[in-house]
Amino acid sequence: MKPLQLAILGSTGSIGQNTLAVAQRFAGRFSVRVLTARNNIDLLAAQIKRFEPDFAVVYGQKDANTLENQLRGRVSTKILYGKDGYLEAASYGPVDMVVSAMVGAAGLLPTLAAIEAGKDVALANKETLVMAGDLVMAKARARGVRILPVDSEHSAIFQCLAGNRRADVEKIFLTASGGPFCNRPAAELSGVSPGEALAHPTWQMGSKITIDSATLMNKGLEVIEAMHLFDLSTDQVEVVIHPQSIIHSMVAFCDGTVMAQMGLPDMQAAIAYALSCPERLCLGLSLPDFAGIGQLTFQAPDLEKFACLALAIKAGKTGGTLPAVLNAANEIAVAAFLEGRIGFDHIASLIASAMEEYRPVADPGIRAILEADSLARRTAQDLLPA
Ligand code: MG
Repeated sequence: MKPLQLAILGSTGSIGQNTLAVAQRFAGRFSVRVLTARNNIDLLAAQIKRFEPDFAVVYGQKDANTLENQLRGRVSTKILYGKDGYLEAASYGPVDMVVSAMVGAAGLLPTLAAIEAGKDVALANKETLVMAGDLVMAKARARGVRILPVDSEHSAIFQCLAGNRRADVEKIFLTASGGPFCNRPAAELSGVSPGEALAHPTWQMGSKITIDSATLMNKGLEVIEAMHLFDLSTDQVEVVIHPQSIIHSMVAFCDGTVMAQMGLPDMQAAIAYALSCPERLCLGLSLPDFAGIGQLTFQAPDLEKFACLALAIKAGKTGGTLPAVLNAANEIAVAAFLEGRIGFDHIASLIASAMEEYRPVADPGIRAILEADSLARRTAQDLLPA
């Protein structure tokens, strides 16, 4: 069997690194042709030396020059930079599958370029579907390419759906660990430091998604992501807090059957399934010690305490450009929180204000979506304390 030819967008992030770990372990099955990063050039240089892709892309020209100097005479990998470089990476001829694992809104245009070029997409960048889900899914259908979820919850739903009729699905249960503040009183959340918010109880991830997990915005973005991936209404997606993170999500069918996908939290499982389904790669991961765990517990999310989740559900219900506004304002708010400019509880209020000031456009094209994104960024910036 010819190895699957991969482009990994965002190779230095946690999904990117785990994808490369899988690709290296099953080296005969995968060939890494393209790597891209933003500015972590030391790690990218190490990855290039190991995988020798045809080319690699960074954001800035200066970083590209530094990287070229580091690699001169050692590998034949070409170095590109800038937005055009990412688009070229996404649409490179020899590639079969693009792993979309860039952070935030920056992933949208490269992911669309990959779909337009007829590549299957292993999608970790949920912001792509939050911002432009209707457009992205329609384009994928038109081009006959598969969008394979890498997000653990969506991979779980995808796996529960295998072998079942889509028409028999009644609803899905999207599980959430609840983050580090699940049991902390709402009144104490204003004083939370970035360090505390970055300590996720069950998953090791990058800083943006870890803060999103602490506010439950991550779950809100995942509700919108699930609506698009599986063609569901907001009413068909129920969020349930499950602190043990053993059940990664569930699907309920019309006969009252609920199927759950379980495992210990490890990103490689969902990544490997996206790369190889319907076949499974023997990863040798530990199984849950059910007797040791004892109980799997569930509770409803507190939508008042975690207003970000309520805002995302509202944006998902309204649709149009509102989810792009939610996403953009969230990116600004999370960055401001990490810089110590706003408190943890202000993340939600900043997003709410940006959404209130905005009149959403229905059935937007890519232009309207990008305009909504930049307008919301400016609005959110203006709302930050000087
Ligand atoms: Mg997830």
